[in-house]
Amino acid sequence: MALNTKSRGGKGDPERTLKVCKALISDPEIIVQKAISWALRELVPWDRSAVETFLDQHDENVSALVKREVKKKLVTGKKNQPGGFAAIEPCQHVLRIREMKLARMPDGSPEIFHTIQGEGRSIGMPTIFIRSSLCNLHCQWCDTAYTWNWEDTNFATESGKKYRREDQIVSLPIEEIANHVGDISDCPNFVFTGGEPLLQQRDWTALMKYFRKENPEQTFHFEIETNGTLAPNDGFLESIHQLNISPKLANTGVAEKLRIKPDALFQLATLEKSDFKFVIESDADFAEMQQLVSDFGIRHDRVFLMPKANSIDELDANSNRVADFCKDHGFRFSDRLHIRLFGAKRGV
Ligand code: SF4
Repeated sequence: MALNTKSRGGKGDPERTLKVCKALISDPEIIVQKAISWALRELVPWDRSAVETFLDQHDENVSALVKREVKKKLVTGKKNQPGGFAAIEPCQHVLRIREMKLARMPDGSPEIFHTIQGEGRSIGMPTIFIRSSLCNLHCQWCDTAYTWNWEDTNFATESGKKYRREDQIVSLPIEEIANHVGDISDCPNFVFTGGEPLLQQRDWTALMKYFRKENPEQTFHFEIETNGTLAPNDGFLESIHQLNISPKLANTGVAEKLRIKPDALFQLATLEKSDFKFVIESDADFAEMQQLVSDFGIRHDRVFLMPKANSIDELDANSNRVADFCKDHGFRFSDRLHIRLFGAKRGV
């Protein structure tokens, strides 16, 4: 595992390391669990967010030993504190005190806001958005890079901006998240967005359950926006009403093997609750999108094509071309209504 820091010019190989860790994650041998812990800790200085994402994504399967040691490394930079295990404070992952990592607004509050849904099937609906932090991709045009593009990573975006994770993440138990929502509105429509919200799917399931328990008379509508690389579990699927899946194309600058996960896409394509939304920048994107639709058996009437745009001028410049393609091929067109109404701002 020490090859992490000795290969690839000394910067490690996060993808290969995490693949090996994932393959061995359920191995009962203590020596294997020690090796996983070692590998993940070695990776922390090179790619913290990859390690954090791995822990969140595999929370149910990662052993207590790995959680304790890696979490300590993430917090203190060391495996153990002086004084040995007795000095270690209880760690969230071990005790399962569930706190969600949400995007943090400049005033410290979580990014939860009441607005009008601007995209896809529910466009125009009054909706409460809850934005989670962390993503497993690194799209170069991402408009929410403050959820993942940390200063100590080498991901590049069009804006060139990097962020300090401690400035951009707020961790909250679901009860507090529900309280924030209650302070804003009693709107029953929700969109869970990110980052990549399915990295925290168990928490969303718990949050939906909590809303229903606390408001038994209310008829909620829960949607999630996801990049389609992670398969939702049964508990989550029972609770969610609508999945808005946005598989990422080559225009993101992300390697295909990271952004296209066949197992997840095949599963998502079979769900009645799934819509697929593709962000179209150039004519090459049409062909790439059509290939994915064909490869994964995605229904045409479930496909929305949306112009890549972060301003009204960009929307106007790109919309007609996308709309014409939709007319010719039986896909649905999606505007970005929130850009027209509010501009490219956070929390609106
Ligand atoms: S998947 Fe979405 S949140 Fe993640 S980097 Fe790409 S655009 Fe940004």
